[in-house]
Parts: sequence; C-alpha cells; structure tokens
Amino acid sequence: MLTYIAGSGAMGCRFGYQLHQVGQEVILLDNWQDHIKAVQEHGLQIVGDEEVTVEIPMMLPTQATKEADLIILFTKAMQLPQMLQDIKQVIGENTKVLCLLNGLGHEEVIRQYVPEKNILMGVTVWTAGLQGPGKAILQGTGSVNLQSIDQSGVEKAKEIVAILNEANLNVTYDEDVVPSIWRKACVNGTMNSTCALLDCTIGEFFKSPEAVAVVKTIIHEFVEVGTAEGVELDEAAIVKYVMDTSVKAAHHYPSMHQDLVQNNRRTEIDFINGAVARKGNRLNIQTPYCQMITDLIHAKESVLNIK
Ligand code: NAD
Repeated sequence: MLTYIAGSGAMGCRFGYQLHQVGQEVILLDNWQDHIKAVQEHGLQIVGDEEVTVEIPMMLPTQATKEADLIILFTKAMQLPQMLQDIKQVIGENTKVLCLLNGLGHEEVIRQYVPEKNILMGVTVWTAGLQGPGKAILQGTGSVNLQSIDQSGVEKAKEIVAILNEANLNVTYDEDVVPSIWRKACVNGTMNSTCALLDCTIGEFFKSPEAVAVVKTIIHEFVEVGTAEGVELDEAAIVKYVMDTSVKAAHHYPSMHQDLVQNNRRTEIDFINGAVARKGNRLNIQTPYCQMITDLIHAKESVLNIK
C-alpha cells in the first residue's frame, strides 16, 4: 500500500515514521526545501522517546507521480488547498484521503478534490515537534478517531484503521467523529489563541477566574454554533474536558504560541475561533469572543510583521 504524507512537518513525520517502521511504503511530501534536503541527505532523525535515523523518501508534492492508496493530510490548515492542488495527480478513483488537521471545515476543501466515498475525517491527540529541518521530536503516546464521511467508504476505512494500528497509532473507527473534532477545536480555541496572545503557559492562563470565565464563554459560542449545525455537543462535558486538559498540560506553551510567538509563523486561527465566528455570522448566532480572539491574533501577526 502506497501512502503519501501530504504535509510532513512534525505530525506528518510522526505518522510517516511509524508507518515506515512496520514496512509500509511511505513517501513524505512537503514544500520546505531545507527539510526535504536534510531528509534526503541525512535521513529523518527521530529524537525524544527513541533516537533513530531512518531513510525515508521525501519530495515536493508536485514531484509525486505514482497513484496513492492512502494520503494522510498533515499540512497546517491554511496550506491545505494548495497541497491538494499540488497532489491532485496522485489522487485516483480509489485513493483514500485521511484528514487529521486541527480545526473545522476542512472537508469542504477536500471535497473539491476527492470523491466523498474516499474521504476520512478524524482527530488525533498524538503530538510531535520539529527541532529543525530533518529532525522530529516524538514523545508520549496518543490516539486517533476517524470516520468515513460516506457510508459506502466504511469497510475500506476499517481496513485502513487496521493498517494504522499495525503501526501502533492507536486508531479507533468512530461512528460519529464530528463531536470529537469539535471538542478538540474547543481545546485549541480556548488555550491556543489565548496563550499566544498573553504569551504564557496553559497553567499560567487558567490560574485566574477571569480567564476561566473567558474559556467558558468561548466554549458556549462553539457549542451554540455546533448545535445549530446539528452536531451533538455536551457543553458541561466539554468544559470539564478543557479544564482537565489545562491541568495535564499546565506547563506547556500550546502550538499556536510556538507558531506565533516563538517562530513568528502564521496561525490556524481562521479555522478554529475564526471558523466559529464565520459560521455564527451565517447562522445569525452572536460569537463576539471568537471574533475578537481571531481579530487579536491577526493584529498580533501584523504587530510581528508576519506575512
Ligand atoms: P508543522 O508546523 O510542524 O508542519 C506544517 C508544515 O509547515 C509542514 O509543511 C512543515 O514542513 C512546515 N514547516 C514547519 N516548520 C517550518 C519552518 N520553520 N519553515 C518552513 N516551513 C515549516 O505542523 P504540525 O504540528 O505537524 O501540524 C499539522 C496539523 O496537525 C495542524 O493542523 C495541527 O494543528 C495538527 N496537530 C498538530 C499536533 C502537534 O502536536 N504538532 C497535534 C495534533 C494536531
């Protein structure tokens, strides 16, 4: 089975590496030239829980030619349309495409390139980092929940679940994955954006009652919009999940902080709080906190001169 990892940053390297280790044919696709060069010349270096270097093919998306059996999408959300455009030559009639990006609304983009029967949407709590070109930091464990968005794709999706589990990716076929995708978006929408704006760890942010009130209001906006879209969301359970996560991850700077503050890169805000604000506008639901958080993140991108 030929698998392309479309977007081989931190998470793409993790999934590519784990599949490669169990003998799957994997090709990493990416647009970061220094990263491709490092992997091509020295192999993909894994550090963290294990230290190993693996030879694994890597190329530009436009250089991929062989039709894929599976494509795992792991770009940042704003890179997704260009990636799909760049790999359209390897998306065949039976190519399955699995999306594990954080954020909301990616299936609308994927549908423009992939027939519905081949789209798998999911969510993951695996983590990964990059220590520079060609070097991935892999620590801890995680899991994946995924679902075929079309009933006719379920059987094949379950076969893919089994293959991913051979690579110890801890994957579950989920009969209703959408609420989990929204729950993860609530985690990102409450702690990522706020910690990036306030330049603090998750634990530092959640310390004050004012911050917890902001978190609860953001979750309320997500739940109102999601519910109006027909997603079953339990607000109290999500608040508990977010609060529990904030305790477990108290010492961490979330990824949006790493992107914006530490590395001066654009963030996925338009696909998290921004997506809820846009959907709210369409549905006539007020989402002032999500809108303001989105505007402030863009203002900070401008302050930092990030293009
Ligand atoms: P990433 O930033 O590591 O990589 C995304 C893309 O950016 C890749 O093409 C990568 O090569 C490129 N890139 C990274 N650093 C770069 C640099 N310094 N210069 C130029 N290009 C660079 O993204 P990721 O963390 O793998 O996330 C991919 C998706 O998975 C996102 O939607 C993210 O929200 C989600 N996600 C991430 C994690 C995590 O722990 N990293 C966990 C769960 C979900």
